[in-house]
Amino acid sequence: MLNARASLASLVTGCLALTLAMQPVAAEPIAKRLFGGKKLPAVMQPAVHGFYSKGCVQGAIAIPQDGETWQAMRLSRNRRWGHPATIQTVVKLSQDGKKVGWNGLLVGDISQPRGGPMLTGHASHQIGLDADIWLTQMPNKRLSYREREQLSATSMLNVNKRGQLDQTRINPKTFTKATFGIIKTAASYKQVERVLVHPTIKRELCRIETGDRRWLYKVRPYWGHHYHMHVRLSCPADSPNCRPQAKPRADDGCGKELKDWARLLNPPKPKKTVKKKKPTKVVKRKPKRQIRLRDLPGACTVVLKAPGPVNAKAATLRLAGGQAFLPNPTPSSAASAADSAVLGRVAVPTFRPANP
Ligand SMILES: [Zn+2]
Repeated sequence: MLNARASLASLVTGCLALTLAMQPVAAEPIAKRLFGGKKLPAVMQPAVHGFYSKGCVQGAIAIPQDGETWQAMRLSRNRRWGHPATIQTVVKLSQDGKKVGWNGLLVGDISQPRGGPMLTGHASHQIGLDADIWLTQMPNKRLSYREREQLSATSMLNVNKRGQLDQTRINPKTFTKATFGIIKTAASYKQVERVLVHPTIKRELCRIETGDRRWLYKVRPYWGHHYHMHVRLSCPADSPNCRPQAKPRADDGCGKELKDWARLLNPPKPKKTVKKKKPTKVVKRKPKRQIRLRDLPGACTVVLKAPGPVNAKAATLRLAGGQAFLPNPTPSSAASAADSAVLGRVAVPTFRPANP
């Protein structure tokens, strides 16, 4: 009996030791589940932590669903959040777009309320400094919730006879002077670090620009991005914990780099040989390692735990009397009247649909 008890005790101790040994692995939460589950931002001084593809954001604010010069898309994703500098830049771009014949922005994903990795899509967009802007102009009517979920963006690439997108040719019907103008406007902002577009779009920008070409270096060619452009801001001054990306080379990028891309987009066909084909090996791809909470800057754990505002509206840019006001939310536990700081004289009149 004594023996049995002793062995039971040792078994229990053994199990406990095993559990403890396993704990570090089991206790490493997958970051996207934690950040993907947050509905509201962390009420803190705005700051970003980490890198565009590995970090988080505190004190994020949301762009309203509608402004006179923008409409936010895919509302169910709840990715209208960003560092205040990003939200202000998107608003400014929507207004400046008018000067180049762009009717208004359809705003795609920015970040989750506290940034971080997402359950679906995007490796970056984690620190509230990336914004996807559709290359389709805002229509003259307010889109319904359903339309914003389902409306497809239009590609700037040509469609061949078989109905497939031709990666090497621009579609002059969808890529217009205004498209050129809105991309150039975004790239010309000091706070914008780079703008990602499809290489064929970059080639078109290079071809069209006959004047000052200095802005072109910021426009970086990348796969995809023929339905939307990806606007990325530099690390803001309030964020010493933000890791900057290496600056793009300061030449216009219209030469060799584009030639290299052209080869990638349209690789030369392999010469036909009579050699017998070896049976192709099935290469198993290693599943990508999930980003764990401990992979992110330590501050992101604090950001996750911080209290949120009373509701999303309290942390959304406020539009009133033709101006935009930065929200100043209070933590939900200490509910007091939200104060607002004037954002400067940006004209954002309340939305008046031209074609209701
Ligand atoms: Zn993007």
